Amino acid sequence: MDLTEVFGSNVFNDKVMQDRLLKPVYKALRETLEKDLPLQPAVADVVANAMKDWAIERGATHYTHWFQPLTGITAEKHDSFISATDDGGIVVEFSGKQLIQGEPDASSFPSGGLRSTFEARGYTAWDCTSPAFLKTDEAGNVTLTIPTAFYSYFGEALDKKTPLLRSMKAVSEQALRVLRALGNTTSTKVTSTVGPEQEYFLVDKRFYEDRIDLMLAGRTIFGAPAPKGQELEDQYFGALKDRVSAYMHDLNIELWKMGIMSKTQHNEVAPAQFEMAPIFATTNIATDHNQLVMETMQKVALRHGLVCLLHEKPYAGINGSGKHNNWSLSTDDGINLLEPGRTPGENVQFLMCLSALIKAVDTHADILRATCAHAGNDHRLGANEAPPAIISIFMGDELTGILEKLAKGQKVSTKGAQFVKIGVDTLPVFPKDNTDRNRTSPFAFTGNKFEFRMVGSSQSIAGPNVALNTIAAEALDEIATRLEKAKNKNAEAAAIIKDIYEKHSRVIFNGNNYSAEWPKEAAKRGLPNVTNAVDALKAFVTDKSLKLFEKYHVISHKEMHSRYDIYVEAYAKQLCIESLVAIDMVKKQFIPAAAEYATFLAESITSFKAVSVPAPVQEDLLRKAAELMASAYKNLEKLEAATTKAQGIADTVKKAEAYRDKVASAMRNLRTDIDALEMIVPNDMWPVPTYAELLFKL
Ligand code: ADP
Ligand code: MG
Repeated sequence: MDLTEVFGSNVFNDKVMQDRLLKPVYKALRETLEKDLPLQPAVADVVANAMKDWAIERGATHYTHWFQPLTGITAEKHDSFISATDDGGIVVEFSGKQLIQGEPDASSFPSGGLRSTFEARGYTAWDCTSPAFLKTDEAGNVTLTIPTAFYSYFGEALDKKTPLLRSMKAVSEQALRVLRALGNTTSTKVTSTVGPEQEYFLVDKRFYEDRIDLMLAGRTIFGAPAPKGQELEDQYFGALKDRVSAYMHDLNIELWKMGIMSKTQHNEVAPAQFEMAPIFATTNIATDHNQLVMETMQKVALRHGLVCLLHEKPYAGINGSGKHNNWSLSTDDGINLLEPGRTPGENVQFLMCLSALIKAVDTHADILRATCAHAGNDHRLGANEAPPAIISIFMGDELTGILEKLAKGQKVSTKGAQFVKIGVDTLPVFPKDNTDRNRTSPFAFTGNKFEFRMVGSSQSIAGPNVALNTIAAEALDEIATRLEKAKNKNAEAAAIIKDIYEKHSRVIFNGNNYSAEWPKEAAKRGLPNVTNAVDALKAFVTDKSLKLFEKYHVISHKEMHSRYDIYVEAYAKQLCIESLVAIDMVKKQFIPAAAEYATFLAESITSFKAVSVPAPVQEDLLRKAAELMASAYKNLEKLEAATTKAQGIADTVKKAEAYRDKVASAMRNLRTDIDALEMIVPNDMWPVPTYAELLFKL
């Protein structure tokens, strides 16, 4: 296989455009892309036609405006390229108008009140900064897929892409101001970049299909632990099983074809858990790609008789899955602003961006936390699992030491580093990689980027990156304003570092974030620790948050309120599904199985007694089974009552709180009984596959 041929073969990328478009058209399109200008209709027509020809040559019959509604997954409606002619025939066509705008019947997507049903129209608009591509399926269908933004009749964002694009613009503008103030005259654009590492589980499809909890809720709601878990640490980076590497091979090819730079793959810590990391891209493209990664992982798994689980916590008692969102800022002339530089000038720039992030993360830790809040992630964040729900920054001892000294106006010395005097201030030349690795921090500086590790494995990365871009924009804005006014830029830069460090260094923590001491220490420092999604989401609609997102034209008050409602409602809906699944499984699978076993024991006791043999073992087991059944039944009734009550609550937030406080705990109590029953009922009588089968028979 020639990787260079496979890579991007299904993408209408720059090379294809150069080959297929006349020079003036290509130039006009490039200019549109680079300067964020509106696309000229005449240009759009030519591009659309070239796109259609290219797609049809590759077997496409349909096109789709692909978009990212607030469900967190993607949506598409397919239209064929045919149009009817007057004489009853067809022509194959695709106009610029069809490329640029679509109007899916979108009334069933969550809009949080932004569209009333009588005005259900939603529009899609081509995001020409993310290239069109072909989606193929196993049956050989090929669809020209056009990444689009999705918005209402009044222009309100109904999707995840629109605010992301707006936030990219905001951070670019503010970062450029800082660069200009520091004397940079060459860069014209700053882009936020992201490399999302994606964790997932694989399970054999045969077992998956016998578990309606996995099928309908994405996680096992019941299940006693297997005798072996992850305690031997024999899985992490272990040799890949043939079946898994065959899967990864096919997955990579599908991803490469769509231009996704799948780079790294390995076994993760938990049994049957894996990770894939791509090479980073702009936040916009990385977000589109990550959606495709999740979708393709699931699709390709089925071809191998496997199912890919993206839920944050498919199994109790072993690690859950997350996404490490590696984030940085880079200029159009190739400078990574979070890269400690070789010259003092580069270092001032670096220190300004680093300080901006410290300030931003401390000021808006609650918002970052909110972007990772949903039902699945509640099983990770704040549930004795990595990472904790408290946002802190890992900076490494060396870098922290440097900042501390700069803040105190002391001379800085680093191992092997020279000193460079600029103006009145001494700034060090940073050694190349001065960060050790702390795997427990939710927000770690890793040499030339920040790694935000709270993001859930099933989540769209759009939300977290909208927040990162916007909070960075605000901090950079304030820094730019100070620098612009200052006569001595270096002195002002030093003062900025000092001010930010003094005010915000409480958010820096280089220790073990899993330790029992950390939450106490964090409380002393006044850092928020919100352990559930319903409370965490409230941070979206505080005055502070509404003002921030509106100021940088990223999300309006109205849009934010609608998003908040949608996310809170989604939490309640997810818990409702889980509860109904739990009730169903207990009634139709576990109680009958336990009864069957009890009957078996009772009959065995009778048979033994008939021949005058005592049956103490069966009697003991029967008593235990009967006790657990009775307790399970009582807990089942409690769960049913709690669920009915929650279903009846009209207020969205109160409803979600009822699910969190009453339904979730009732579900946990029920699980305790059922898992205990599983431990005594013989395998062949237990109605669903066990953890041992789910995790180890791969
Ligand atoms: P690890 O964190 O496992 O050591 P790497 O350092 O190779 O791995 O990077 C992890 C992810 O971070 C990859 O997806 C990589 O492309 C991404 N990454 C590297 N540099 C940047 C950057 N400047 N901006 C955004 N992401 C980056
Ligand atoms: Mg990493």
